[in-house]
Amino acid sequence: MAKCDCEPKRSAGLADNFGCDSFNLATMREWLSGKVYKAIKATIQDGTPLDPAIAEEIADAMKSWAISKGATHFTHWFQPLTGTTAEKHDSFLTPDFQGGVIAQFSGKELIQGEPDASSFPSGGLRATFEARGYTAWDPTSHAFVFNAHTSRAVLCIPTVFCGYHGEALDVKTPLLRSQAALVKQLKRVGTLFNVPETHRPYATLGSEQEYFLIDRKLYESRPDIIMTGRTLFGRRPARHQQMEDHYFGRIKKRVLEFMADVDNRLWRLGVPSKTRHNEVSPAQFEIAPVFEEQNLAVDHNLVIMHTLQDLAPEHGFQCLLHEKPFAGVNGSGKHNNWSIVGTDGKNWFTPGETPHENAKFLFMLASVLKAIDSSAAIIRASVASAANDHRLGANEAPPAIMSVYLGEQLEDIISQIETGGAKTSKKGGRIEIGVSTLPSLPRDVTDRNRTSPFAFTGNKFEFRAVGSSQSCAEPNTALNLAMAAALDEMLNAIEKKLPAARKKDTEGHSKEFHAVLQDVLQDTVAKHKRIIFDGDGYSPDWKKEAAKRKLPNLETTPEALKTIIEPATIALYSKYGVLTEREARSRYEVYLHTWGQIVNMEGGCALDLSRTFIIPAALEMEKILAKSLESAEHFGRDDESRRDAYTRVAELVEELYRSVNNLETVLNDNNGSLVVTAMLELRKVVDQLEDLVPDKIWPFPCYGEMFFTF
Ligand code: ADP
Ligand code: MG
Repeated sequence: MAKCDCEPKRSAGLADNFGCDSFNLATMREWLSGKVYKAIKATIQDGTPLDPAIAEEIADAMKSWAISKGATHFTHWFQPLTGTTAEKHDSFLTPDFQGGVIAQFSGKELIQGEPDASSFPSGGLRATFEARGYTAWDPTSHAFVFNAHTSRAVLCIPTVFCGYHGEALDVKTPLLRSQAALVKQLKRVGTLFNVPETHRPYATLGSEQEYFLIDRKLYESRPDIIMTGRTLFGRRPARHQQMEDHYFGRIKKRVLEFMADVDNRLWRLGVPSKTRHNEVSPAQFEIAPVFEEQNLAVDHNLVIMHTLQDLAPEHGFQCLLHEKPFAGVNGSGKHNNWSIVGTDGKNWFTPGETPHENAKFLFMLASVLKAIDSSAAIIRASVASAANDHRLGANEAPPAIMSVYLGEQLEDIISQIETGGAKTSKKGGRIEIGVSTLPSLPRDVTDRNRTSPFAFTGNKFEFRAVGSSQSCAEPNTALNLAMAAALDEMLNAIEKKLPAARKKDTEGHSKEFHAVLQDVLQDTVAKHKRIIFDGDGYSPDWKKEAAKRKLPNLETTPEALKTIIEPATIALYSKYGVLTEREARSRYEVYLHTWGQIVNMEGGCALDLSRTFIIPAALEMEKILAKSLESAEHFGRDDESRRDAYTRVAELVEELYRSVNNLETVLNDNNGSLVVTAMLELRKVVDQLEDLVPDKIWPFPCYGEMFFTF
């Protein structure tokens, strides 16, 4: 048989290049001596403190590796309270004082950096005389070379960012601290349930990232998007997302080429990008990686966001990560899939196969209910931002009210626990803690409710209130902290009830142990079941019901942020060593200030654009209609529809002036909440005008063009 000449060329893709631009374990094994590799691996996987003596060899290897990737510079890559990442590049260059240079990178430079931090937000944590900030290497996340083999190649070293006295000035430090608090409690759970301790426990994260793409040329004609990341004006076109044809639809060629480029780049960086698809809104898409250890996954999500934004222009697109770039269609979120790997290396949110494993699973489940109920406001506050305010509570995103969705079967089991633990389950069989196995839970049964902010999806919880442009660090810090506190209290309750001699379930399923466990679970469920909600989270009835249950409903950022400085929150943060009181208060200052700045900046942009683009266009339209009316009358036609058209526009122009003046007044008063309302009022007028003014006079590309023309 003749050999087919269309045999595909072996693509240098996936497996070959995966992680080639990342200084991950595989790269380290290649570039480090056996001894140093073993030591750094123990730090990464088992949390063994880093031996500073090995930093020199690691730095040297990292430098040689990065140079082989074309890097000329390195940077400590950190995450200040600006919501994004920061970097200051230094070249490897050192003069040899004989007219030449050598490439150098010391262990000290790897471990610590000292960027001038005076311009980063600190919320009063740092007086100007101690403006120094320190970055310190986080060896548990992989260094990587961005833009390898280009003139822009730079070695990025993930770091924490602290003040002179060790105060956290970033979002990574509290995340790592919350992980330590959680690990401590998970080890106790392991001991209590007599689980073999083969692994250091850790949280996992898989973040599904939503984004929009619009044509770069259209983007360049939308000063509102350029300035604020979203449209401040714009009317939803007749065709939008109602045809439901975009979600999971066939991916257009240009978009697919972009996605392929993104995947390739991410794979090279060691980011396990897995899923890509069209989302609900026109021009909206999603990318999701395979889950990883939480701290690494948070960094990888940031890398995904950078990569999307970097590569979009190369394909003639602009990538919008804003939570609500377009009014009237779905906004973008980030589903934060969160789970826990226990001391046996297994997922502890997976219902087990033995009654004993099930007892642990139910204990973990009850802890989650307690965690979310007790810390609902803190978790809500962790995703508060001016941009996310447009989304939470709007009709496509989970509401600002925290609740947990468990699915019918688990809810049934939980309610049985409350009433005594030995009743008949819906699917038949008796559930008795430590005695019964649970019915196996098919995944699709648990993943139906898309309106819940916190849904159990088989072996993980999906927190859906995270905004698309946010870092996952803070929501995960809040989840870890809430869970650590809940576990701590439940473990204490169990230990208190068990005789001193028997602090663990040594026999695997002792009657006494299970009776105590049953008691504590029963108590916990009774106290916290109000957080369970399986209904429609978007419905107005839920708001009423939630109010009856006394669940917090913090609809706006300023309301939500107040939680941070409540005494109970401050006590919780400090008890588990996540934030000191000073750090918590400084964060409150920074976030509230940022919210006000964004709102005022957007208000200012809306004002400018109204005056310089929209009013002139509206006046021109008014003039055209006036002229038409005048000439019609001149020729003796008293045409009512012409008069109506003129009157309609003339009235809107008057309203436009009024709204613009009102916005200016509230901006001068510096009242953020009033600015938000004034902008909405102005937008209403402008969007009506857009409907009446022809495209060639209207100064901006319309939604329809941005949605459908690529
Ligand atoms: P969907 O939620 O869209 O149905 P999946 O549930 O399959 O999709 O996966 C969504 C995300 O959840 C992926 O990023 C996946 O890696 C992640 N995920 C799956 N298992 C876990 C886990 N144990 N911990 C954290 N994330 C997980
Ligand atoms: Mg999902």
